[in-house]
Amino acid sequence: MIKIENLVKNYKNTKALQGVSLEIQKGETFAIVGPNGAGKTTILNTILGLIHPTDGQITVDNIEVSKDPKEIKKRIGYLPQRISFHDNLSVFEVVEFYGALRGVNNTKLGNILSAVGILEQRNKKVGALSGGMLQRLTLAQAIVSDPQILILDEPTISLDPEGRIAFKKLIREEQSRGKTILLSSHILSYIEELADRIAILVRGKVVALDTLEGLRTKLEMGSILEVVIENPSPLAIKLVEDLGANDTEIKGKNLRCRIYPKDKTNVIKALIQNDFNIADFWTEDPSLEEIFIKYTEENSDS
Ligand code: ADP
Repeated sequence: MIKIENLVKNYKNTKALQGVSLEIQKGETFAIVGPNGAGKTTILNTILGLIHPTDGQITVDNIEVSKDPKEIKKRIGYLPQRISFHDNLSVFEVVEFYGALRGVNNTKLGNILSAVGILEQRNKKVGALSGGMLQRLTLAQAIVSDPQILILDEPTISLDPEGRIAFKKLIREEQSRGKTILLSSHILSYIEELADRIAILVRGKVVALDTLEGLRTKLEMGSILEVVIENPSPLAIKLVEDLGANDTEIKGKNLRCRIYPKDKTNVIKALIQNDFNIADFWTEDPSLEEIFIKYTEENSDS
């Protein structure tokens, strides 16, 4: 659906993108994550034809962006990081304006406002909206024409927890309707729930690209296993370490270690076989946050 080939963007003193290639499938939710300045916005703006690349090519639906940027814009709903609406317009008037630009029937606008959670504010002036409400209005303009592709640049940055929940619900609905969604963010908690695949961008280069599960496996970070043992002793530590566990520690009755998923059950079995009474146990997979930090650290000097 969106094919990016060897994208390069140089500014006077900055190599913003250094040969980025990505392919985003139809119906996929794809996230680009990376620290500030990594080049996320530059990629999104280049797809939209708002920035001309130094080198490389992008096609959307097999149309080359450089050849027909207008056609590309018609297919994409875009949520930029910053947008300014006229302060004196009401929420409804803003959505009406963007709807009219894209030939949307006014009867549908109520549904749009409701989907992003600002129907109650429909008569409020833009100038009186909070940051979070403004973000919701920005999202409303992105989805007003029901585009097949949504490109969302840091979509949750000014949303409060309630706004983030509403946003996730909206994205899930758009996913179930087969939309192709490209998100950029440095806030990772909601991305791990929504994205099918994640590209980690550091200094204009893709340093990792996979599903969350794939990224975890590649890093070989293992999972945290925590076992509550009625009668812990140093023998318990030796047993789990012999099975390949790292970072092992006992705090009170809790034995905590990092271990590869395939070895988790062996640890439990070994403890039981050695007469440890297990009251409870649970595992935690590494979060996207941990994965992101590891990849970013590994690639920060290149
Ligand atoms: P991100 O969205 O990941 O925070 P950006 O794509 O905004 O990163 O920026 C990537 C790099 O390009 C940064 O170093 C930024 O300072 C630089 N940059 C972006 N736009 C311009 C510009 N118009 N002129 C010069 N440098 C720019």
